[in-house]
Amino acid sequence: KPVFDPAAVRDDFPLLGVEVNGEPLVYLDSAATSQRPRAVLDAERRFLETVNSAVHRGAHTLAAEATELFEGARATVAGFVGAEPEQLVWTSGATAGLNLVAYSLGNAAAGRAVPGHEDAVRQWVPGPGDDIVVTEAEHHANLVPWLELAARTGAAVRAIPVHDDGTLDLDAAGALLTPRTRVLAFSHVSNVLGVVNPVEQLVALAREATGGTALTVLDACQSAPHLPLDLPALGVDVAVFSGHKVLGPNGIGALYGRAEVLEALPPFLLGGSMITTVTLEGAEYLPPPQRFEAGTQPVSQAVALAAAVDYQRAVADRFGTDALLAHERALERQLRHGLRELPGIRLLGDAAGTDDGTVERVALQAFEVDGVHAHDVGQLLDARGVAVRVGHHCAQPLHRRFGTTASVRASAGIYTTAHDVDVFLDALSGVRSYFGVA
Ligand code: PMP
Repeated sequence: KPVFDPAAVRDDFPLLGVEVNGEPLVYLDSAATSQRPRAVLDAERRFLETVNSAVHRGAHTLAAEATELFEGARATVAGFVGAEPEQLVWTSGATAGLNLVAYSLGNAAAGRAVPGHEDAVRQWVPGPGDDIVVTEAEHHANLVPWLELAARTGAAVRAIPVHDDGTLDLDAAGALLTPRTRVLAFSHVSNVLGVVNPVEQLVALAREATGGTALTVLDACQSAPHLPLDLPALGVDVAVFSGHKVLGPNGIGALYGRAEVLEALPPFLLGGSMITTVTLEGAEYLPPPQRFEAGTQPVSQAVALAAAVDYQRAVADRFGTDALLAHERALERQLRHGLRELPGIRLLGDAAGTDDGTVERVALQAFEVDGVHAHDVGQLLDARGVAVRVGHHCAQPLHRRFGTTASVRASAGIYTTAHDVDVFLDALSGVRSYFGVA
């Protein structure tokens, strides 16, 4: 059986060689942002040094080359999630993608519609008495835009609760989803709990409750770095992810949409590059994806994101997807078992370890240290060269649900080794005695 040893790829990531506070870096903050392999850094630099131009309208050679690379990158990144190029809209990140959808529906609520698609969009537009259903575990990026849309339209936001073990309460979901549900927006993987949510089941519940009229929106930010994604097969209407979490650059992300959905959504950002004809009286818009790509696009970032996807694919081809997934599972077990064994540590969404083997998770886990504030834990780990995230991780409602305001989060990337997790657990084991609470 092939195995994956992340040591084989670590040399590809220049940053992993740095020292922090005199210690070799142990980077366990990939859920916040991943490190980039040389292939990605080189691709962006090469583009900037040899091709850099604005795309689509130039009459000169470099503009044509840049356009070719930009559209080629779209095809590559679309392929990464099982989609067609025209189903992939570039955004500046997941936050921008979710705002795009929410503001598009807000525009539709204000009477704006794409000619010929008025009926299609109407079924997703919330109004007074209607519901937007989310989960209690959402990142603020997949919550605040919906709260704003609800406030503007008179709709209500309702949240599917999370069980003690971090899984969604699907019985409650079944009851919350009704014919009044216009949108169901949820994350594939929680950025705090690491739990993989049952996408197809939730989509089926929404379909059952509404006859298929609710818009299903998936936040794939934390699944894209850990799991192979086939978004069309998952059955969601739209999905978003960020480049900087999948070994790519900042300032680029993508919105996937089913063709009929993208065709029916009115634009959010308006301006150049998204129109066919403009007069002083009005404008006509290009079809998707260009309809949603107003203004100068992040071209070098798109090219580099495609390089990140190519890098991922090359690693998967070399070691096998099963080997990568087995390594992910091993890290997840090591991380969570190690945390459970330390006294005075409480994992968020663990339910005293009763879920072992039954809940699918990725190697990402938030926890609290009894008697020590998360920020102090983070500082002490940093002194040992260990980088983790502290705070609410943009998930305040979820922290409130688990009776806390802040936690520490350790998260792995493709380059994370068992040794990284060992160093982290060892450093963590001294935290409580250092602060005099053990
Ligand atoms: N959703 C989830 C689940 C996330 O983890 C993040 C990033 N922390 C976001 C959305 C927002 O991504 P970005 O900041 O790249 O737009």
